[in-house]
Amino acid sequence: MEKKFDYDENGVLTFGGISTLKLAKKFGTPLYLVDVNEIEKRCKMMTDISSEVYKDTIVSYASKAFCCKGIYKIINQYNMHCDVVSAGEIATALAAKFPADKIHFHGNNKTPEEIRFALKNKVYNFVVDNAGDIEELDKYISKNKKLQKKVNVLVRVNPGIHAHTHEFVQTSNIDSKFGINIDGGDAEKFIVKLSTNPNVNYQGLHFHIGSQIFDKEPYKLATKKVMDLVITLKLKYNIDTNLLNAGSGFAAWYTSKDPLFKQSDYKKFVDAIAKEVKAAVNKLNIVTPTLQIEPGRCIMAESGMTLYTVGNIKEVKGIRKYITVDGGMFESPRYALYGADYTALKCKKDGSKIEKVTLAGKCCESGDLIAKDVKLERVVKGDVIAVASTGAYHYSMASNYNRNCIPPVIALKDGKASVLVKGQTYKDLIKYDC
Ligand code: PLP
Repeated sequence: MEKKFDYDENGVLTFGGISTLKLAKKFGTPLYLVDVNEIEKRCKMMTDISSEVYKDTIVSYASKAFCCKGIYKIINQYNMHCDVVSAGEIATALAAKFPADKIHFHGNNKTPEEIRFALKNKVYNFVVDNAGDIEELDKYISKNKKLQKKVNVLVRVNPGIHAHTHEFVQTSNIDSKFGINIDGGDAEKFIVKLSTNPNVNYQGLHFHIGSQIFDKEPYKLATKKVMDLVITLKLKYNIDTNLLNAGSGFAAWYTSKDPLFKQSDYKKFVDAIAKEVKAAVNKLNIVTPTLQIEPGRCIMAESGMTLYTVGNIKEVKGIRKYITVDGGMFESPRYALYGADYTALKCKKDGSKIEKVTLAGKCCESGDLIAKDVKLERVVKGDVIAVASTGAYHYSMASNYNRNCIPPVIALKDGKASVLVKGQTYKDLIKYDC
């Protein structure tokens, strides 16, 4: 479905109520923009919907989608928690004064140093992916009797449900590096052993079936499978599951091939999960678990946009027209990673002919495209263009490939623009070189 973008009376694209041409002029390109009002609207929507559907809910922002001090300040206003997957994300959250007891530490290979860092900083909520995490926790806790605190543990299980999304962002096929498989009894054995460990407090289960999912059905199936495990744990071993984290994967709009999501669409996802939980609880009178979800993309993707200046243009007759821009896979890695699709917009509409073009980056890789075969009003060198839905997994995945500087992130709020993250300089690029 087409998405409506905002243009002013002069045909200039606006974002967060501000002219994109003015923003490009003031801050330069490439430029990451995030619309704080939109982020706040989505945080409110996710927290409202969740508690409406299931009373006892925790919404944890998935830091991996977009991580900097500013985002933690925003989510904290909504009483949200956050999930992190590295000590670096923990350090960023804590630097923004985000409460340590609302941080949930994920990861399939937390290093001993990261585990120590978390515990020293009072991050006691761990999502355990394998036995290695428990060994490290045991080692640390037995050497640090002063800790006097049990570590709260959620066990990440793999329900083996296939979600219809790109292979690299599916995390719950049976052949996955994440989680302990339910099928074959691995998860059951792991939890039974864990429940007798004096250093940890088994809280419950976590699962995450993938990303960019439009269909509620896989959530339903996965939750049912996980609730069956909850029931087995109670009936066979008298182990209570007090917390159930259903991950995320809720989709965002990228192109006209995607549906435009309304509030009610997110409600369907949470509803599908909640119904399965309630059905199991009602059937067997087990503990009603707190429900946790971890949205990242659906909060951030459409709240962001990236601006570029058009550079060289190359036409391969009868095959493709390449519009090269001053960005690339160093700041927009998702095409190179997953062949992701995007929508491109000319920042000043002038009624030129619409063409099918491919936006190419400036990096030394043939795969360094930003968007393939997109429709765009004819542009010339120097024009400013925008790529929509770049708020998630862009800035957070950026690199210095080819020693390009990571661009600044500009926050737009109530019609005002301010720097949320400074752009790197060449000095920054060489500052660690010895
Ligand atoms: N939780 C976990 C464990 C994840 O792996 C991810 C993303 O991969 C998320 C939450 C966030 O998912 P999304 O950005 O699709 O909302």
